[in-house]
Amino acid sequence: MEKFALVTGGMGYIGSHTSVALIEAGYQVVVLDNLDNSSEKVLTGIESITGQTPHFAHTDLRDVDAVLEVFNEYPITSVIHTAGLKSVEESVTNPSKYYENNIGSTITLVKAMQTAGVSTLVFSSSATVYSSSSKPPFDENAKTFPTNPYGMSKYIIEQIMADMALADSKWRLGILRYFNPVGAHPSGKIGESPSGVPNNLMPYLMQVAIGKLEKLPIYGDDYETPDGTCIRDYVHVVDLARGHLAALEFLENKNGVHFWNLGTGKGTSVLELVKEVEKVIEKPIPIEMKQRRKGDIPIVFADVAKASSQLSWQAKYSIEKMCADHWKWQKHYSDSRQ
Ligand code: NAD
Ligand code: UDP
Repeated sequence: MEKFALVTGGMGYIGSHTSVALIEAGYQVVVLDNLDNSSEKVLTGIESITGQTPHFAHTDLRDVDAVLEVFNEYPITSVIHTAGLKSVEESVTNPSKYYENNIGSTITLVKAMQTAGVSTLVFSSSATVYSSSSKPPFDENAKTFPTNPYGMSKYIIEQIMADMALADSKWRLGILRYFNPVGAHPSGKIGESPSGVPNNLMPYLMQVAIGKLEKLPIYGDDYETPDGTCIRDYVHVVDLARGHLAALEFLENKNGVHFWNLGTGKGTSVLELVKEVEKVIEKPIPIEMKQRRKGDIPIVFADVAKASSQLSWQAKYSIEKMCADHWKWQKHYSDSRQ
């Protein structure tokens, strides 16, 4: 049978790279997206990388009838669910928007899957579900305790999926806890397109590098880390995309619910990342030391042993490659808007 994957949020940063990986692995792909945080131009990027344009449903995942229509139209065999809102900051000021969109759309999706008889689902979760009281590296059994509505929406969806697997053994559910996805496709044709001033470190750094923003605020240099700045586990988005394929392959032979961290297992500090970007762009990045950002955990990195042993998945790309590919995309992206 032909493999036919539905990628919700497939016009977005992670969904578009995952769509490329799926097409390159021989899947037919249908992208479902409401374009809330993306543009239809991404289809051209995917097409120019793979030679194939995915099917596209311009649909809101909360619209039950429209989602059912997508399942009726295409012979979907599995679903990668990346659609969602992702700003921690916005989730704190507008929590109901996050619960309604992220949880509401997941419930619509699983109902439609039940109606259509599709039982394989891979979900984009996040390392933000882990508790700050856990000691890094975080393995999948580390204590969970999300501290903001965004993280809580991920945690609740994980719980819903775990309950679904308990209630019905036909489900094949994969939960991917991403650490810090950065980088872009090495072609420079797809990448992350943050709207407004970015909250995350790498897109902010890139906008300083291109001259769109003046200097990088560094939120705290008095943490108990070697250089005083926070440490994160950055992972190349193309590696992450391959992780979805590995999860789908695993689920072909296994039912139930399965959790995997996707990261490199290595930590990089804010100042180390700044230095890496400076090497790529061959000029200094202006920085400004600021107060600590509320809620930041000093050190976060993944224990990736489970993904390695169960999925035979490991991140391949270095921090240098992440910065170089992100920069290539940043330049292309800025040029295309001039
Ligand atoms: P993104 O904003 O680039 O992509 C998400 C896509 O989902 C967008 O194209 C948006 O238009 C779409 N979308 C949102 N709500 C929708 C709805 N109701 N119906 C249809 N489409 C909808 O974000 P991303 O960085 O690609 O993240 C993808 C997923 O991974 C999200 O669920 C996010 O929470 C999760 N995640 C991201 C990161 C990260 O740093 N990028 C880290 C951990 C987890
Ligand atoms: N950070 C920073 N300046 C910025 C954005 C982020 O110093 O403009 C720091 C932030 O305080 C954290 C790290 O960079 O220590 C990674 O932040 P990001 O928001 O990218 O990821 P998260 O904290 O969600 O893992």
